[in-house]
Amino acid sequence: MKGNVLRTASKIKIKLMVYMTSTTKLFIDGKFVESKSPEWLDIHNPATNEVIGRVPKATHEEMLAAVDSCSRVYHTWSETSILARQQIFLRYQQLIKDNIKELAKLITLEQGKTLADAEGDVFRGLQVVEHTCSITSLMLGETLPSITKDMDTYTYRMPIGVCAGITPFNFPAMIPLWMFPMGMVCGNTYLLKPSERVPGCALMLAKLLQDAGAPDGTLNIIHGQHNAVNFICDHPAIKAISFVGSNQAGEYIYERGSKNGKRVQSNMGAKNHGVVMPDANKENTLNQLVGAAFGAAGQRCMALSTAILVGEARNWLPELVERANGLRVNAGDQPGADVGPLISPQAKERVNSLIQSGVDEGAKVLLDGRNVKVKGYENGNFVGPTIVSNVTPDMKCYKEEIFGPVLVVLEADSLDDAIKIVNKNPYGNGTAIFTTNGAAARKYTHEVDVGQIGVNVPIPVPLPMFSFTGSRASFRGDTNFYGKQGIQFYTQIKTVTSQWKAEDATLKSPAVTMPT
Ligand code: NAD
Repeated sequence: MKGNVLRTASKIKIKLMVYMTSTTKLFIDGKFVESKSPEWLDIHNPATNEVIGRVPKATHEEMLAAVDSCSRVYHTWSETSILARQQIFLRYQQLIKDNIKELAKLITLEQGKTLADAEGDVFRGLQVVEHTCSITSLMLGETLPSITKDMDTYTYRMPIGVCAGITPFNFPAMIPLWMFPMGMVCGNTYLLKPSERVPGCALMLAKLLQDAGAPDGTLNIIHGQHNAVNFICDHPAIKAISFVGSNQAGEYIYERGSKNGKRVQSNMGAKNHGVVMPDANKENTLNQLVGAAFGAAGQRCMALSTAILVGEARNWLPELVERANGLRVNAGDQPGADVGPLISPQAKERVNSLIQSGVDEGAKVLLDGRNVKVKGYENGNFVGPTIVSNVTPDMKCYKEEIFGPVLVVLEADSLDDAIKIVNKNPYGNGTAIFTTNGAAARKYTHEVDVGQIGVNVPIPVPLPMFSFTGSRASFRGDTNFYGKQGIQFYTQIKTVTSQWKAEDATLKSPAVTMPT
C-alpha cells in the first residue's frame, strides 16, 4: 500500500511507531495501545482512495480507562506548579517546530491538503502553543485591598477538572492545538477525540507532548464516532467540552453536553462572504479572493466561499475566472499543487450535486471543475476550482455550506445591500471587505453580524492573543476558543475575602446583619 510505504519511509526525527503501523493506537495513561474493539474504520488517502490504515471505535472499557486516567492524574497535575507546566509547553513548542515537516507529511497523507498548506495548519496551531507559554501572566487573578477595614479580596483562576475536545477532519493539527494545550496549561487534564478520518496527527502531537515531559494521563486520546461523542457528553467526570465541526454534530453536542451540566463551546459551519467594492485594489482583491476560495480545496471554515460584487466590481468576473483557472489541481504531495483532493468520494459527490443544484435553479457555471482529471491520481476525490455566478440568496448552493473549491458569486448595487445579504445568511463565522475607502470598511465592520472580519484580509483568523469567535449559526456557547476567552473557558474563579484584624479590633458580639 502506497500509504504504508510513505509512512515507513519517512525520515522522522521522533521514533513514532504509533502512526507507522496500519492500525491507529489509542493513547491511554501514557501508553499507545492497540484497541480490542471489534469495530474498525478504514482511513483513506484522499488523493488515491487507497486504504492507508484503520482506526478503532474505542470500546466502552477503553473510553472509561481513558477518562479514569484523566481523573486520577488531575489531582497531581492541577497542583503541579504553574512554572513546571509552562516549562513543558516551552519544550513542546520547540518539538513541534522541529517536526513540522513530518507532521505536515502525515496531514497531507490523511487529509489531502498540499504540503505547504499542511505546514500552515501546524504553524497556526503552534502559535497557540507558543501563547500558552505566557500562562504565568494569562492566569493571574485580581486583587482589591482594603475593601473594608482590615479586609482584602482576591481571586484565583483555578482549573476545572477533566476537559474534552472533539475535532473535525479539516485541520488535523491546528484545531487539536486550539484545545488541549490551553486546557492543560491551565491545570486541567484532557481527553481528545480526533476526527476518525485523520487520527494520525493527533497521536503524533501526543507523542511530542510526552517527549516534552507531560506526565502520563494528562492527555488521553480515544477514537470513534457517535458512541465516543455520546460518552464524552454524558460522563460525569468531564466538566467541559470543546467542539469544532459541522452544525449537525455541534448543535447536538452543545445540547447534550449542556443538559449534563458541562461547559460547551461549539464552533460550527460557515458561509463566508467576500464583499468586493468597486474602489478596491483590483489585482490584490482578485488574488486574495481566488486564494481564499480555493486554497485547501475550500475545506476551511474560513474559506471565502461567496463573493458579493458591488456595483462596477461585477465587471471583474472574467478576470476572476481566469485566475482561478490558472490554479493547479494535484495530489497534495506533488510539487506545484495548489488545490488538493476533497476528503472523501461522498464529499466530492455532495459538492458536485450542489454545483448542479445551482445550474438547475438558474445560476451560471463560469468555471466548472467537476470533470477535472489528475494524471496518476484518477481515483482521487478531486474537484477543480468552480465559479458559479448569477446566484441569488434563495438558491440551495448559496444557503448550504459547500465545503469544496466552489465560489458562488452574487451581485449587489450598494454596500448597504451587501450588508443585508450577509446579515440574512444564517452563518456568522468570517467575512472580508475589499475596499480603499476607510469609511466603507468601518461601516462594514460595525454593521455585519459576523465573528471574524477582514479588511483587505481574506482569511482573518485571529492570532492566539485574541480569540476565534463566531456568531449566529456558526457558534454555540458564550466563551470562545483561545486567547483570554480560552483561558476563561478552561478555568473557574475562586474569590477569597479575608480579614486580619489587629487584636484590639476583635468582635465583642455576633454580627447578625449584612455588613454595609
Ligand atoms: P463533523 O461534524 O462531521 O465531524 C466533527 C467531529 O464530530 C468528528 O470528530 C466526528 O467524529 C464527530 N461527529 C460527526 N458527526 C457526528 C454526529 N452526527 N454526532 C456526533 N458526533 C459527530 O465535521 P467535519 O466534516 O469533520 O468538519 C467540517 C465542518 O467543520 C464544516 O462544517 C466546517 O465549517 C466546520 N469547521 C468549523 C470551524 C470553526 O472554527 N467554526 C473550524 C473548522 C471546521
